Amino acid sequence: MAHMLFLGPELNRFALQMDYILGGIALKLKRSAAKEEIMKSEREGINLNAKPSGTGCVECLATGAWWLHLRRCAECGHIGCCDSSPNQHASKHNATTSHPIINSFEPGEEWFYDYRTQETFEGPKLPSPRSHSANQPAPGPEGRVPREWRSLLHE
Ligand SMILES: [Zn+2]
Ligand SMILES: [Zn+2]
Repeated sequence: MAHMLFLGPELNRFALQMDYILGGIALKLKRSAAKEEIMKSEREGINLNAKPSGTGCVECLATGAWWLHLRRCAECGHIGCCDSSPNQHASKHNATTSHPIINSFEPGEEWFYDYRTQETFEGPKLPSPRSHSANQPAPGPEGRVPREWRSLLHE
């Protein structure tokens, strides 16, 4: 009994130290779980087998409209036009399908964007082609772009 009393403060210090260490570990685990959750949710909107639907915005091509830049749905491969384009078909595709992630379909651009978090991030390499060809004009498609196209863009 006397022995235990003697060790009391030591044990107390030891317990405090363990508390501190375990607290640190718990915090790290919590942080990596949160990070893992974000990575998992990103993966949920990305299908590594989905090929792009074509070389131009699906809806613009169907209706005779034109676009400024192209975006690719990372889940199904739908090619849609950007938010500066008159018809914003990439965002409309997100609104109607809830497919959450787009990847730029412009030559030289690799960024991904998550509509849920409104964050841009670096994603995996999706199946080729990863952009429209460099000699396809932007705005496009060729022959459909009105002369005053600049004044028709969204901010
Ligand atoms: Zn479009
Ligand atoms: Zn999609």
